[in-house]
Amino acid sequence: ERKKLVRLKKTPAITKDGTEITLLANIELPDDCAAAMEAGAAGIGLFRSEFLFMGRSAFVTKLPGEDEQYESYRKAVAIMKGRPVTIRTLDIGADKPLDAAEQTALNPALGLRAIRYCLAEPQIFLMQLRAILRASAHGPVKILVPMLAHAFEIEQTLAMIEQAKQQLRDAGKKFDANIQVGAMIEIPAAALALPMFIKRMDFLSIGTNDLIQYTLAIDRVDHEVAHLYNPLHPAVLYLLSSIIAAGAREGIPVAVCGEMAGDIKLTRLLLGMGLREFSMHPTQLLPVKNEILNSDLTVLATQTRRILRATDPVAITEAVAQLGAL
Ligand code: PEP
Ligand code: MG
Repeated sequence: ERKKLVRLKKTPAITKDGTEITLLANIELPDDCAAAMEAGAAGIGLFRSEFLFMGRSAFVTKLPGEDEQYESYRKAVAIMKGRPVTIRTLDIGADKPLDAAEQTALNPALGLRAIRYCLAEPQIFLMQLRAILRASAHGPVKILVPMLAHAFEIEQTLAMIEQAKQQLRDAGKKFDANIQVGAMIEIPAAALALPMFIKRMDFLSIGTNDLIQYTLAIDRVDHEVAHLYNPLHPAVLYLLSSIIAAGAREGIPVAVCGEMAGDIKLTRLLLGMGLREFSMHPTQLLPVKNEILNSDLTVLATQTRRILRATDPVAITEAVAQLGAL
């Protein structure tokens, strides 16, 4: 079965009715780009940059500096040979602690993590932004910002990107002045206040792992509540479909980069909602492409509308499993 899928590497991801779908890879370190290329990814949709920082102790001088980060980002850009590389800014805290021993918050998932941490540590944030910007001189790079929820966070982030650009201009260093900036939509408040993001961002990427965690109030790493972690909960489906629909309406690209994007049992559901960009672990790329090649969007759109009106969890699960079957 795997062998058969390998043959799909160079096949474009086009549905039966002729719609091209963009399949991107999630990576943790630059070396993972090789697997992304091997699977035929159209680019990197999520470079989890915090993996460059983890296990290095929270002591600032021990963290990777601007040049070290620049080399890592540039390496990813080089391996991807002109395909876009979406670098997520430091998403530290909660399930991805900088230093587990230092984490003392009672509810770290609700604490000073991701963009909140970066805005509280402007020197660390500016250093990373300069490194990402410098890498953008070597190929297409996009900046993706995690855990945004407030308008002032959007404004401060954009202001800091401008500040990093000015620092590089002053230092005579090259970068892409028109670099695209996108937001992770992974806090329910962001999904429910989407116009705030559409107005200021170039693209959106839905982080379903956290969106599910925060929507259902279920710790994504707590085994005792793992059975309640349901991507098919009507509230999750409502948020997902409304974000995707708003993106299509307003003409702003929307991707899904959470685990849902790589789950072949959910590919047709996401297609039916109108999703056209998926970012996933490289091993999932060909199986998901196989689903896409066998999908007809007109059929899926109708069937998915029916699922979105349903309320019975068992019926929803069954209908999702039946999607695409005539
Ligand atoms: C997510 O939250 O869905 C996501 C893609 O980011 P992470 O899993 O790294 O939090
Ligand atoms: Mg997340």
